[in-house]
Amino acid sequence: QVVVVGSANVDQILQIPRLPQAGESLKMQGFSQAAGGKGANQAVAAARSGAAVAFVGAVGNDANGTWMREQLTAAGVQTKGLATRSTSTGQAFILLQANGENSILVHPGANALLTPAAVAANAASLQGADFVVAQCEIAQPAIVQAFQIAKAAGKQTLLNPAPAAPLTAELLQLVDVVVPNETESAALSGIKIVDQASLAANAQWFLQRQAATVIITLGAHGAYVATAQTAFLVPAFAVPAVDTTAAGDTFIGALVAALTPDGGQLKSAVRYASMASALAVQRLGAQPSIPTQAQVQQALAN
Ligand code: ADP
Repeated sequence: QVVVVGSANVDQILQIPRLPQAGESLKMQGFSQAAGGKGANQAVAAARSGAAVAFVGAVGNDANGTWMREQLTAAGVQTKGLATRSTSTGQAFILLQANGENSILVHPGANALLTPAAVAANAASLQGADFVVAQCEIAQPAIVQAFQIAKAAGKQTLLNPAPAAPLTAELLQLVDVVVPNETESAALSGIKIVDQASLAANAQWFLQRQAATVIITLGAHGAYVATAQTAFLVPAFAVPAVDTTAAGDTFIGALVAALTPDGGQLKSAVRYASMASALAVQRLGAQPSIPTQAQVQQALAN
């Protein structure tokens, strides 16, 4: 069982030739809507990779909220812990440039109303999880609450510190597995990643703050894995990337599913997660692009 505590957003995907300048008006090349939000994406990724997943979060009492709940349910995610609040559902506006780069604007909406009390209402679910997973699109006290409940029950926690934000010492000491991308890691550690040594120093920074496992994702350069005993790089699979939105989310959901329930081997789990995200970057949209376990296993076998 995996419990994801996090954000649910409706993504508005704006396909544009390039970012407009101040005062400039540009024509979009395409426009579409997809289910997103780091928390919901990771929950869907874990479910598509075969894990039993429950989601704890909040949507608004609007059409987007109803739609998000349907999308999660359709993906096999249990939504008993998804509260409906009297506000709007979170939305993200994804400016996807023709060169594949993206810039994102987020309106948190109901995600901002996920309180520690709302998290605590799901204590039984959190206590029964093998892994409790969170990201930083919700308030830190809510994450702390979820991780405290999980740790008190002897369960594992995974934090994806995204988007980058300063983390309290209280939160850091509750994290077993931390999975930042390169930018987030450098922002937290204060150590710019320019070579192997600075990458290792970034991993050390987290290991010194209680994390047992650090995985720094490096986009097309792969993922760097470090524990007290070992450190290694799992290269990315060479694929033509169309849209890297949710690459990290797919990686994390797939990783946690591959590590659940009885501690799957770290290296093979990271390899599995790398392939899941390599498949995701070849398709447009967050949740629509997340592959199933069968698709990942088939691609790995080829
Ligand atoms: P985020 O989306 O959080 O910024 P990354 O860009 O680091 O995360 O991507 C997470 C993982 O997804 C990488 O470690 C890699 O395995 C895979 N990935 C990302 N971009 C690509 C790419 N262009 N080609 C192949 N794999 C990729």
